[in-house]
Amino acid sequence: MKPVVSAVLPVYNEAPNLQVLHQELVAELERLGRPFEIIYVNDGSSDGSAELLEGFASDPRVKVVHLARNYGQTAALAAGFDHAQGNVVVTLDADGQNDPSEIGALLAEIDRGFDLAVGWRWPRQDPFWTRRVPSMVANWLIGRITGIRLHDYGCTLKAIRREVVAELRLYGEMHRFIPALAGEMGASISEVRVRHRARLGGHSKYGLSRIWKVLLDLAAVKFLTGYVTRPIQVFGSVGLACTGVGLAITGYLGFERLVLGVPIGNRPLVLLGILLTVVGVQFVTLGLLGELLVRTYHESQGKPIYRLRQARDSGAIR
Ligand code: UDP
Ligand code: MG
Repeated sequence: MKPVVSAVLPVYNEAPNLQVLHQELVAELERLGRPFEIIYVNDGSSDGSAELLEGFASDPRVKVVHLARNYGQTAALAAGFDHAQGNVVVTLDADGQNDPSEIGALLAEIDRGFDLAVGWRWPRQDPFWTRRVPSMVANWLIGRITGIRLHDYGCTLKAIRREVVAELRLYGEMHRFIPALAGEMGASISEVRVRHRARLGGHSKYGLSRIWKVLLDLAAVKFLTGYVTRPIQVFGSVGLACTGVGLAITGYLGFERLVLGVPIGNRPLVLLGILLTVVGVQFVTLGLLGELLVRTYHESQGKPIYRLRQARDSGAIR
């Protein structure tokens, strides 16, 4: 029978946790009573996770996908999405931190008609200074910049309609920005408080070093969601502003030199004026190149610059 719900779990060295989690997950999905599949994506584990997962696959509802090496959580999720057949994809961590018994609450939101239900880990079971504080700052910043304000961007536990999953293009570490990317597609988003548990075993794969990656990905997401169809407007306006100020400075200096006869050879302002003019022209050119790229991107794939609202007779996902 074709699954209605696909659970996708990225697995990187989670051997101590898999057995318990798998039992909980199967029990919960059976309790919910919709046809389901579980897709484990083994992201290059080296601790025996692969063998454990293969063991689970004797159940025909379990699929195991092995990546050739460790690619990171985003790629692992993307691989899971590519193999998922259900009408709704539920993602969760494979370390047991996301409680499978919350899946029902997320599916209920999808049944109510939302395209995406996002977990909000509360109360969060992670160290305060190294995890929760950076998270708070990140959630605030991502919300401000993308305009999709959520309490918890870092929670893997989500339920996503297939139509949305099919359109997601994930690069870098962008699994964190799924709600922002989905929001940009016009998807409706609901946030649900979910129980969070301490890691059963093993250790977290992330530390503070992810801050830089998140910031850069955020810049990319902002650009992709906000300006990808109009680069000349972004680069062009910065360029025009720079050139404008640059020309004003050089004009003023020229006036001083030619009309008032003041020597300008030793004035730092000369450098600034020239620099701004040149940089400004470069920004405008960059915008024009961007326009060329955007056209190649959209037209080579027959990708329109708009999306139509999916016609849905009812929100329920049976
Ligand atoms: N993960 C993965 N590939 C990686 C890093 C992590 O598939 O390169 C998986 C990991 O096995 C877990 C999930 O992503 O199922 C979240 O990782 P982790 O628990 O370390 O993150 P945290 O909960 O500490 O933010
Ligand atoms: Mg975890």
